Amino acid sequence: MDKNNKLIELDGSHGEGGGQILRSALALSMCTGTPLRIERIRAKRPKPGLMRQHLTCVLAAQEVCGATVIGGELGSQTLEFRPGQVHAGDYRFAVGTAGSCTLVLQTVLPALMLADGPSRLHLSGGTHNPLAPPFHFLQRSFAPLIERAGTRLDLTLRRHGFFPAGGGEIEALITPAVDGLAPFDLLERGAPLDAYAEVLAPALPRGVPERELEALARLTGWDPSQLRVIPARQNEGPGNALMITLAHEHLTEVFVAFGERGLAAEDVARQVFAQMRAYQASAGAAGEHLADQLALPLALAVAGRGRPAAFSCTELTEHSRTNFAVIERFLPVRFDSRLEVSRAGQQWRVDVLPG
Ligand code: AMP
Repeated sequence: MDKNNKLIELDGSHGEGGGQILRSALALSMCTGTPLRIERIRAKRPKPGLMRQHLTCVLAAQEVCGATVIGGELGSQTLEFRPGQVHAGDYRFAVGTAGSCTLVLQTVLPALMLADGPSRLHLSGGTHNPLAPPFHFLQRSFAPLIERAGTRLDLTLRRHGFFPAGGGEIEALITPAVDGLAPFDLLERGAPLDAYAEVLAPALPRGVPERELEALARLTGWDPSQLRVIPARQNEGPGNALMITLAHEHLTEVFVAFGERGLAAEDVARQVFAQMRAYQASAGAAGEHLADQLALPLALAVAGRGRPAAFSCTELTEHSRTNFAVIERFLPVRFDSRLEVSRAGQQWRVDVLPG
């Protein structure tokens, strides 16, 4: 699949200018065997450079493919990554803080989905963090779609981890596709199958989850059977996440809002409700986050098979556009996006074309 093996140079301040440029670039460097140099890492973030979570991604990628790394230090804004052979295996990656461990999975997953055997990953850190995919999103929304490409991703949550204590644990079993990834289309949601809300509130007073669910019940008019409290395990938390899951025939979406000191339960409920309403107001299949995360595995499938794929989404965020641009640097694919308006609402259609 190598486009060429010449070093690819990236500007980490481009577009979104965040950690996703680094993670996608590492993933693609591993998958294609292409060396990478990235400068101005996370230049648009308040604390630029490699934070603990990003450094864990670099070190995880290095371990999985025996890469030579220059600049793999905390705070570093420049990184050179020369990948070696990807090895399936048993790995343990610990962020060491409450930084998101789901983003570490996002970094190494593409290469391990294409590896020569199954892998088992033990990841620790935050499992439910603002600005990162929560575990339940990965399990319900992302993993089933990855499986449509022919790979298996079994995710188990061993322990919830929230900011600032961390301590979350996830186990991931990755079974690569036998003949490489297969492209697929995700243009419609299909019939609605289920809708429910769950609250996680380990080590918080009982009143917190109850007030959040009551507020959400007033906004949605949902039946009590659709409003659930996820029991905490021992020594978890403190932390608070309110999630809504909408299951459709062709995909499931998960929305999340986080409680914090000083934020009223009603406001947490309003935040997650607003995300659900924005999704329902559009006809697009994938929500904004799923759209940027689906791009890389779909592009690998399109590049591998030389066949196109397409998806529709509610929004085309700066994250998505930036990710498309990074992917096009590594793979012989082209993203073609256009806004479509119909009676069902407005949506973006994204075609991933072999290039
Ligand atoms: P960055 O801001 O560049 O570190 O990238 C953050 C990543 O986390 C992107 O892939 C986002 O789509 C993803 N993300 C952020 N919030 C959520 C959420 N609520 N659900 C799912 N994914 C998320």
